Amino acid sequence: MLSQINSATLQGLEAVPIKVEVDSFSPGLQPRFTIVGLPDNAVKESQERVFAALRINGFQLSKRSIVVNLAPADLRKEGTGLDLPITIGVLSSYDTCEFDRQMLRESMFIGELGLDGTIMPVKGALPIAIRARSMGIRNLFVPKENEREAAVVDNVSVYGVHTLNEVTDFLSGHTVMEPTVVNTREEFYANQSNYAPDFSEVKGQENVKRAFEVAAAGGHNIILVGSPGCGKSMMAKRLPSILPPLSLHESLETTQIHSIAGKLQKDTSLISQRPFRSPHHTVSDVALVGGGNTFMPGEISLAHNGVLFLDELPEFSRSVLETLRQPLEDRVITVSRARYNFTLPCSFMLVASMNPCPCGYHGDPQHQCVCTPGQIQRYMNKISGPLLDRIDIQCEVQTVPFAKLSKMKPGEPSANIRQRVIRARKIQTERFSSLPKQGALGRVFCNAQMTDRMLHEFAEPDAEGLDMLRLAMERLKLSARAYNRILKVARTIADLEGSGNIQPPHIAEAIGYRNLDRGDWAEKGI
Ligand SMILES: [Zn+2]
Repeated sequence: MLSQINSATLQGLEAVPIKVEVDSFSPGLQPRFTIVGLPDNAVKESQERVFAALRINGFQLSKRSIVVNLAPADLRKEGTGLDLPITIGVLSSYDTCEFDRQMLRESMFIGELGLDGTIMPVKGALPIAIRARSMGIRNLFVPKENEREAAVVDNVSVYGVHTLNEVTDFLSGHTVMEPTVVNTREEFYANQSNYAPDFSEVKGQENVKRAFEVAAAGGHNIILVGSPGCGKSMMAKRLPSILPPLSLHESLETTQIHSIAGKLQKDTSLISQRPFRSPHHTVSDVALVGGGNTFMPGEISLAHNGVLFLDELPEFSRSVLETLRQPLEDRVITVSRARYNFTLPCSFMLVASMNPCPCGYHGDPQHQCVCTPGQIQRYMNKISGPLLDRIDIQCEVQTVPFAKLSKMKPGEPSANIRQRVIRARKIQTERFSSLPKQGALGRVFCNAQMTDRMLHEFAEPDAEGLDMLRLAMERLKLSARAYNRILKVARTIADLEGSGNIQPPHIAEAIGYRNLDRGDWAEKGI
């Protein structure tokens, strides 16, 4: 008899419905098991897992030939999540099956089977649940580990299951199961204020904290330059604590990406904090931007709506840094391979750090630098101009001597800084709200995203400010690319102050964030 079971597979960020059709019939000579409909290797192997699980769990099936068709046939099916629907399909294709047929029609199944019938977690339970709801599915059976991410979606009863027997007993009416309920909003808002690293733990470093505040307020990318051990990473980790809180909409976007990557913590329903990703400098370009044989989102998409931290920037390979340029500009990444072509969002703030020179102590009052100007120049050249061009704020970090540190008071709590950031962002939202969408980029929502034309309209300094900027360009030998960056950052500084005009002090502070652009870096130090 023919049975049809609902399931789904992932295509990039989307879940696509799959009908698992199973027919079993008396064999002529030898029983056969065949899977058709473009299965990948993991799906083909599901035969072994399905039969082992059935046998070990005591299902006595008479010898029959079984054909499994995965429809639509022209779509490649990946991964192990089809084990459970195939098993349920095989069982229900036997005439002796006692499953509630009505319930079966209204249900969807995903899950990988262990040989003993344990149901193991799969990737993408959240986008699959979203798809199930849009199809009018009433019951979704998912591995226990995935139940909370799936239960974020309302109007679908989500059943988290441990074993094959739990599912079959329930479908046959032998047991009762309660669907998993997650109070999404309540949990989301309760967890939002739990971000652990706080700027109050950072003593001194007022200029760096200020640079982070300006970066957060305008969405500017930032690079920290300082000797080893001066606290660059420690401060970068605290950036999410002063960014505006994640909205529910942003959270759903970010959680979906983490869901398809299989990177959600077991007890997580929705991600409630902005992500902070810090890939090691040995990261490959596939791991950074996404791709692979079986598609995986990259670090830049896992950092969507949050922070991407690249520690020791010059250590990253040049090809990896080159792949960052386009997504930094477009805030989406298109990954193309022979078998697929997916576009994922990757709107993140970039925080980079580097030593001032190969030995690390150029400009450090405590240590002697042993590098020649030529070595320093070569080191600086490792980070390409076009990448540096996309970083608005360059900030020098000095080591605070321990003796001084112990006498200092705790810093200002992140919550206070965040309030100022939110106020400045509100001014920007209002400023850009009437603008039309910028093509594929969508809406501009913070100063860092202003185009050159917008700079003319919104970031023209007053006469005095303009004079100061011209003078600085000449005296400090600032490069032409620095000009627009300074205006953007000055706009943010003025917004933080609630000032409509861009005045000389705003310009002066913004000029201070262009250390690396000065023509005399290698000779004088920063
Ligand atoms: Zn050095």
